[in-house]
Amino acid sequence: MSAGSCTETTRSTCPYCGVGCGVLVNKQQDGSVEVKGDPDHPANFGRLCSKGMALGETLDMEGRLLFPKVHGQRKSWDEALDLVANTFARTIAEHGPDSVAFYGSGQMLTEDYYVANKLMKGFMGTANIDSNSRLCMASSVAGHKIAFGSDTVPGTYEDLEQADLVVLVGSNAAWCHPVLFQRILAAKASRPSLKLVVIDPRQSASTQHADMHLQVRPDGDSALFAGLLDYLSKNNFLDQGYISAHTQDFGLALTAAKSWGAEAIEAVCGLETEELEGFYKLFARTEKVVTLYSQGVNQSSSGTAKVGAILNCHLATGRIGRVGMGPFSLTGQPNAMGGREVGALANMLAAHMSIEDESHRQTVSDFWETDRLAFETGLKAVEMFDAVASGEIKAIWIMATSPVDSMPNGDLVETALKNCEFVVTSDILGDTDTLRHAHVALPSLGWGEKSGTVTNSERRISRQRAFLSEPEEARADWWQLAQVGQRMGFEDAFSFDNPVQIFREHAALSGYQNNGERDFDISAYDDVSEGAYEALTPFQWPRTREPARNKERFFSDGGFFHKNGRARFVQIEPQTLGEATHNYAFTLNTGRIRDQWHTMTRTGKSARLSAHLGEPFAEIHPEDALALGIRHANLVEVSNGLGKILVRALITSRQSKGEVFVPMHWSDQFASNARVDRLVPPKTDGTSGQPAFKNVGVKLRPYVGALYGFVVSRKKPELIDLDYWVVSRCEGGWSAEFAHTHRPANITERLQDLFKDSAPNQSGARPELVSMVNDGSGLATHAGFQEETLLGAAFMADRPVGVSRGWARGLLGFRFHNSMSRHGVLAGLPSNGSVEPGALICSCMNVGVNQIALAIEQGASSLDQVAAATNAGTGCGSCRGDILRIIEDLQVVAAQ
Ligand code: SF4
Repeated sequence: MSAGSCTETTRSTCPYCGVGCGVLVNKQQDGSVEVKGDPDHPANFGRLCSKGMALGETLDMEGRLLFPKVHGQRKSWDEALDLVANTFARTIAEHGPDSVAFYGSGQMLTEDYYVANKLMKGFMGTANIDSNSRLCMASSVAGHKIAFGSDTVPGTYEDLEQADLVVLVGSNAAWCHPVLFQRILAAKASRPSLKLVVIDPRQSASTQHADMHLQVRPDGDSALFAGLLDYLSKNNFLDQGYISAHTQDFGLALTAAKSWGAEAIEAVCGLETEELEGFYKLFARTEKVVTLYSQGVNQSSSGTAKVGAILNCHLATGRIGRVGMGPFSLTGQPNAMGGREVGALANMLAAHMSIEDESHRQTVSDFWETDRLAFETGLKAVEMFDAVASGEIKAIWIMATSPVDSMPNGDLVETALKNCEFVVTSDILGDTDTLRHAHVALPSLGWGEKSGTVTNSERRISRQRAFLSEPEEARADWWQLAQVGQRMGFEDAFSFDNPVQIFREHAALSGYQNNGERDFDISAYDDVSEGAYEALTPFQWPRTREPARNKERFFSDGGFFHKNGRARFVQIEPQTLGEATHNYAFTLNTGRIRDQWHTMTRTGKSARLSAHLGEPFAEIHPEDALALGIRHANLVEVSNGLGKILVRALITSRQSKGEVFVPMHWSDQFASNARVDRLVPPKTDGTSGQPAFKNVGVKLRPYVGALYGFVVSRKKPELIDLDYWVVSRCEGGWSAEFAHTHRPANITERLQDLFKDSAPNQSGARPELVSMVNDGSGLATHAGFQEETLLGAAFMADRPVGVSRGWARGLLGFRFHNSMSRHGVLAGLPSNGSVEPGALICSCMNVGVNQIALAIEQGASSLDQVAAATNAGTGCGSCRGDILRIIEDLQVVAAQ
């Protein structure tokens, strides 16, 4: 078999969003890894988005933590684990169980999560275990439990294809859950009567495909759905039979909805009567409706009420648990659902049991054979880090996440960890914004190395399988937790040797004293063999040994999990506009972009993904930018009482006036000052404890620099002492943007040194440094060559540098045979006459905005025609909304 040819295929799941796509991983003989969509996985049927397709590019060892460290020094596992176990045990003995805490992540596998929850709640005796899933979907959990009596997602992905109306609320699914969005679009293409309504303050890649976009004010959703309930009642669209047979408190909910009044609803929603009525009519007259919602609903100080308002409308029409209809919460992370199933949140117990319920506590205590079980709710994420700050929590273990970047008021979290007596981190990386405050850093396994299960948004449990060996001394998270459990004296309870033993115990607990009273039950697997676990195909829960209980959908005929079997309507009390706003001039909305995941620790390794949007940015409406003197490509300071960040201005009429959007991905590892969550106040939903990331008051100010620059280099540029810098991967090396208030005296020499240091020097040829200053534009270029290879090039000016990034980011792959081609670099211009691709739009086919624009100029006027001319949009399809926008924008320009 030749080098590079395929050697083996492993079935696994994508580690990014909650769609939970199946992947086929082909390991090549040359060590490279090819990842394709699994045609047999029911979540994606072979599709993958740009992030999933680039998984093979993210697996290198650069930056990995490969050995345990204590105070920055390499130690043996025994030394590190003994220190963790002894410190936690001593802290509990001296200060009580609630002086310790664990903070996990939706990246953890279910088996890891199960052991963490058992250790903390069952044996350390504290419910101070929470997760970054608190930041993601806690309001959905709370809403489900209030209405249904259980945290149950009633429907399946197929419902989205079988619906006649999909209502997408607070979600840019085209970018954040791309494969599911593509499934909706494919269904719409084959059945155009399927309507898509998007309810979101932003115009986005998702609204581009919508039949109706309701550009609701931030946090206007509860009002909108309260108004819908009133409309359904007034116009006789209620399912009285369902309401009386299966629910309670409808009268109270309807009275509350009516008490809003049309005027208040329009004011809080920021929508006209006609817009609201258009949607209400469509919802009312369409039987098969799915309301799909995500972070715009959950990440709010009224998130639980918003979820309740949506569930009310589905319960009132009986549109739940039947084919093509129901409310549907989309989870953000690959295993947020698995974390919920094992109860790894501060207010839950294991297996969807409730910590407040004495009989549930007894069930879990009996099953785990422990007399130390926590008996009351622990601290939720924001409270937990407040308690670290106050010294109430003295030892914390953080696994697979970086709260310094992702928590609200991130600077307070960082200070809290800096001052905490004992911080343990388990991570795959050797340096993160959180790990730098750890006393003990434990090396974990990454995707491709670890083995276990995850659950996606439709309750489907799939295997993640290892296809790479454990590097050096990195070890599984469950193993680290079990080892600490054993060393704390709980040998029997934590004598796990492999993930299948944990899965069996988890499955057995789900069925223990259950009898159908709890929704989560996978007891059919309580004796699964190692071989059967290895071969496990994706399945939806519940999965018991009684086929009649293994339903695909919940609640079509009632059967809710409150003691009386009835669902509860929620009263959505009226709000005024003032309650939903703040005192700043701008409302900041934070979120994801298409090609990056969380803090970019993996997606940031891919040059292809980094080419899509290579810098942190603030989307600003043109009139706001004009009023503030902010021009396109200027830098802008976004600030409030908690701090400030510096990002690039992206001026676009897609943004609403008075609002600004900043992505959440850039940590201190990739940018000088772009951690947007440092601006988010620790304001949470009173019930769920989920922070409000979408409605933050900020002000904007243009940044005035005296030096702006852009550099490509084989070696990673270190620009730490400049006001603004951002680094990202490009083919063959790194690119960086920078700016500063004055021109540092040695900046040219520093950049030239960088190029000299980049020289591989194997040929013995000395690096050749050349410079040029363009008198007209003031652009100064410095470049380093070694024979025909470019070592690096820096472009600097006293204003934002107008050099094409798409072209420059490809320079490290060129051969420079003659002085003409070298002159092109110095001039900052492509010299071969080809179309400069411009900003990357289609990551899969590597097509830039200029290539798409040329195709449109030459007559392409539809997605299919652009695809035929350029191949753009023919891969995962996540860019099709962007292509539509370019077509529309250019058609408007042509018409003017
Ligand atoms: Fe991964 Fe993309 Fe599928 Fe999400 S939609 S699971 S990110 S491939």
